[in-house]
Amino acid sequence: MKIFSDERLINLGIISGTASKDSGSGREKQNTDKFFSSLNIPADKILGLKQVHGDKIIPLLTERDLSAYRASEVHEADGWLLGLKGFGVMILTADCVPLYLWDKQGKFISLCHCGWRGVAAQMPKKAAKLIKDQAGQNCEICAYIGPHINACCFEVQEDVAGQFDPSSIIKRDGKLFVDLTADIVRQLKECGVKMEDIKSPCSCECTCCNKEIFFSYRRDHTKDVLISFAYKL
Ligand SMILES: [Zn+2]
Repeated sequence: MKIFSDERLINLGIISGTASKDSGSGREKQNTDKFFSSLNIPADKILGLKQVHGDKIIPLLTERDLSAYRASEVHEADGWLLGLKGFGVMILTADCVPLYLWDKQGKFISLCHCGWRGVAAQMPKKAAKLIKDQAGQNCEICAYIGPHINACCFEVQEDVAGQFDPSSIIKRDGKLFVDLTADIVRQLKECGVKMEDIKSPCSCECTCCNKEIFFSYRRDHTKDVLISFAYKL
């Protein structure tokens, strides 16, 4: 098993990352339980979502937020803003982007499931703003863009391409491809995030190209999903 993660977070007391497919599909509780126990993380301290390809981000900053989460039956949302120690959050992806954003002090971390809809709806920008609301408008934000479908494979039709900034669209052989990484980077830069603070995956981390390592909905059309998480020590 390999975990794709950003070492900057470890130094801030945040264990996080996106697991390779040999951890099993994140839809099965037995797989997520096994995965978290292999990391010595209590699985019952990891909270999940019912993802709906929207842009809602759930705060988990106080005991009150935790009670609100526990009191609710469905958690329809696609992102987290975690500030509570001793808890973790999880999202599931199969081609969509697991986006990790945090303030340089590591007080807050946002983990978002950004599909093309979420990226087009400016979810990265929204997450960055939420961190600034908590950590201060002048706080420095760092980003790790986890493994997802890259521009090599993410062919779309004109209706989808039209929802993106033209700079994020690549034309090749009369076809259109979305570069999700480029769009996220552009959004973050507009929020004042420095290029040097953004770590993005290399092309060898395209979920669709790498059958041995990642699940990919575009490639396999199954419901299997990769586990992404962030746990605050
Ligand atoms: Zn690819």
